[in-house]
Amino acid sequence: MSFNNLDNLYRQVIMDHYKNPRNHGSLSNGALTLEMNNPTCGDRIQLHLLIEDGIVNDVKFEGEGCSISLASASMMTQVIKGQEVETALKLSQYFSDMMLGKDVDPADLELGDIEALQGVAKFPARIKCATLAWKAMEKAVDQNEQP
Ligand code: ZN
Repeated sequence: MSFNNLDNLYRQVIMDHYKNPRNHGSLSNGALTLEMNNPTCGDRIQLHLLIEDGIVNDVKFEGEGCSISLASASMMTQVIKGQEVETALKLSQYFSDMMLGKDVDPADLELGDIEALQGVAKFPARIKCATLAWKAMEKAVDQNEQP
C-alpha cells in the first residue's frame, strides 16, 4: 500500500515521528498502563499515562507496528502531555472525527502534528492504525475514573 495520495509534507512529518518517536519508553510508579492491538495490521501499542489532579502529567508509549500507528502514538503523546484530561479527550474526539473525514472546527485545541494524519481518512483500512493509541488513551482515562 502506498501513500502517494498523502501530501508530501505530511508524509515527511509522519516518517519523522515514526523514525524518531517522541515520548518513547515506559513510566514507573503510579502510571496507568494499557495495551491495545490492531490485529488486522499487527500493530501493538503499550501506553503509559500518569494522570494527577486531572492533568496528563506524563505519557509514554512503547510498541511495534506500522508507521501510521507509531507516528500517531508519538504525535498523540506530544499533544496531550501537560493537558487537562478533558482536553486530551476533546483532542481524541477531534482526531476520530478527522479520521471519519468530518470537517470539524478544532476551536482552541492545539493540534501539534496530528493534522499530518488527516490523509489517512482516505484509507479506511488504516484508520484503525491511526486511532489505536487514542483508543488506548481513552480506555486508560476511563479506567482511571472508575472508583
Ligand atoms: Zn497499522
